[in-house]
Amino acid sequence: MAEHKVDIVCIIGTGLIGGSLALALKNTGFCKTIIGAGRTETTLQKAVELGVIDDYDTDISRAVANADIIVVSVPLGAMRAVFEQVNNGKRDDAIVTDAGSAKQSVIQDAEAMFGIGFDQFVAGHPIAGTENSGVTAAFAELYQQRRVILTPTDNTSTQAVDAVREMWQATGAEVETMDAAHHDMVLAGTSHLPHLLAFGLVDCLNNLEDVDEVFRFAAGGFRDFTRIASSDPVMWRDICLNNRDEVMAMMKRYRDEMEKMYRALEANDGEKLREIFERAKKVRDAFCD
Ligand code: NAP
Repeated sequence: MAEHKVDIVCIIGTGLIGGSLALALKNTGFCKTIIGAGRTETTLQKAVELGVIDDYDTDISRAVANADIIVVSVPLGAMRAVFEQVNNGKRDDAIVTDAGSAKQSVIQDAEAMFGIGFDQFVAGHPIAGTENSGVTAAFAELYQQRRVILTPTDNTSTQAVDAVREMWQATGAEVETMDAAHHDMVLAGTSHLPHLLAFGLVDCLNNLEDVDEVFRFAAGGFRDFTRIASSDPVMWRDICLNNRDEVMAMMKRYRDEMEKMYRALEANDGEKLREIFERAKKVRDAFCD
């Protein structure tokens, strides 16, 4: 990016994702100023204290007034209301993007609030994160060598896509574009279903009578598998609700797979189980290589 082609980036929601983006952009000098916005003043004050943002405004319409690029990084359930406030305050030529984990619902929200003809909205999703939330969890390296998926529609301006691509590339990320429906199907399988499985397993064991005894003997594998069950419940509720059809379709496929293993076990069919495990191990080993 040429020096300071972008003067002001406004980030609404300075938590893990928005805060890490702010830190990465500051490190690379992508813009002159980063303004934070959101609903909680103490969060924004903390973000200034930590050097994540330069300044803030709790009034979103006011915060976006001079911004060249506006990034919305709040839970999916809050997107539409935030877009409405952005629309009330932004410049006509400002580019708006988001970091939400499902894309079709965000595009619908954007069309409802900015109008179908608005071509400066670029839906985006960084495929990076941790189970921790909030500005104190943010770090500048989060996006290095990670993928960011942009899901422009037929209506999205190419120049807006290029600007958002350059912003994410400045963080060290690799940027790809994809159809929003395809994104939602893929992420339902690789991210949304695994989170449901982790939450579900912990909840299931928690309902056992000797729960303390069970968790006392939980080893590394259990910790690895359930790490993401420490993720934010509101964020994950919103992701499931906003990608409902794709998540339900993946749950059904997984239920069929569990049923297959259950039947093999019931029939004492060790060969069947070994076959499934062998196939899965090969795929997982290849993926990790
Ligand atoms: P987070 O750490 O909890 O940060 C969320 C931010 O949004 C906080 O600054 C929060 O501020 C603010 N916020 C919450 N509700 C709001 C509302 N109603 N109006 C205005 N601001 C609000 O969450 P995150 O992990 O950064 O996630 C942000 C977005 O990125 C979500 O859409 C999520 O789907 C997506 N995403 C997350 C990950 C991940 O692994 N975490 C990865 C990729 C994408 P206060 O609560 O302090 O008010």
